Amino acid sequence: MDEDRRPGFATRAVHGARMPPIDQDAPSVPIFQSSTFRFETSERYADTISFRRPGYTYTRGYGNPTLAAFETLMADLEETESAFSFASGMAAIHTVATTCAGAGDRVVASPELYGGTFSLFRNVLPRYGIEVTFVDAHDHDAVGEALPGAKLFYCETIANPNVTVVDLEALSGLCQNAGVPAAVDNTFASPYLCNPARYGFDFVLHSATKYIGGHSDLIAGVVCCSERDVAGLRNTVIETGATMAPLEAWLCMRGLATLELRMQRHSANALSLATFLEQHPKVDRVHYPGLATHPHHALARRQLPMGFGGMLAFEVEGGVDAGRRFCDGVELAWIAASLGGTQTLVGHAASTTHRQLDAQARRAAGLADGLVRVSVGIEDPDDIAADFARALEKV
Ligand SMILES: *Cc1c(COP(=O)(O)O)cnc(C)c1O
Repeated sequence: MDEDRRPGFATRAVHGARMPPIDQDAPSVPIFQSSTFRFETSERYADTISFRRPGYTYTRGYGNPTLAAFETLMADLEETESAFSFASGMAAIHTVATTCAGAGDRVVASPELYGGTFSLFRNVLPRYGIEVTFVDAHDHDAVGEALPGAKLFYCETIANPNVTVVDLEALSGLCQNAGVPAAVDNTFASPYLCNPARYGFDFVLHSATKYIGGHSDLIAGVVCCSERDVAGLRNTVIETGATMAPLEAWLCMRGLATLELRMQRHSANALSLATFLEQHPKVDRVHYPGLATHPHHALARRQLPMGFGGMLAFEVEGGVDAGRRFCDGVELAWIAASLGGTQTLVGHAASTTHRQLDAQARRAAGLADGLVRVSVGIEDPDDIAADFARALEKV
């Protein structure tokens, strides 16, 4: 074979692309749109795939530089040692639950949960032989009684749909006494408003789809925890596969750059809308932790000192029909699933976000039939209030 022969077209097209040398900073981390990474030798491959040396093997579970950059940033913002990224919030929750618990084990969970999480705990985990005990997370005596022997405690910082706030310090103390790992879904608060690891929580989870991404343009999840716990989650994900995609990690980093600004605006807009709704004659009740009438207002002031977030719920006078008619009457706000994006979204909780709960479970979660859930966006607050006033006129 001619040593100097120029490789053929196909070979040059396959092997010719090179990262150009660069010794300058760029404002964003490159997107490593790569499933696999080259090794110099078989020995290095063997050492890297066994985590005996640092490096990248395969993006599913083993790691990817863009995911690593996002994870390092998340760990810093949540004040944990490490973090691990997932394809969705549900993938993150499923992985934490199934890494901590297996057949014959028990999980203790608050019943005030995101609908998908409640359904996972009630319908899916039992199929794996994992028993879930639901205990009111505001009743610390009941939690203390349920914990011994459990493999995981699970709750939400600010819970769907009545925006209740749990006492993170008290709950983590109970978990530490019982030797039970504590996990909290911090999606509604975001790492800007609350850092549950400071109170001793072991796993801080996010649906990054919401405030972290912040623009309703991706699905992603992340868990912030110790390096040891990341290793456990990684071992599960290498086999189960729910990895975040590199583009999503990049979008999440772009979202995080403006998280503080957005959360300040979400919180200010929500407080202003909650105050407006509270005074409206056609509104029976407003649920927002920033209102003095909220049952956990004093706790929320301590635990969420930077703001009370962008989520609120309210009961339109007249029940189910009135709640639905209100949603059909808004024009600026959208009737839509999800939360944490730039535009204001509304939804009738019982028939949409909490459809997985039957009437009994809805009552247990304190969910009124006519409850409207609002993800308050970052629009001009006067325009949001005008839109809601118009829709309430039509009810
Ligand atoms: C949306 C959401 C989830 C699920 O996250 P996905 O990214 O949709 O899988 C979990 N918990 C809370 C509080 C959520 O709002």
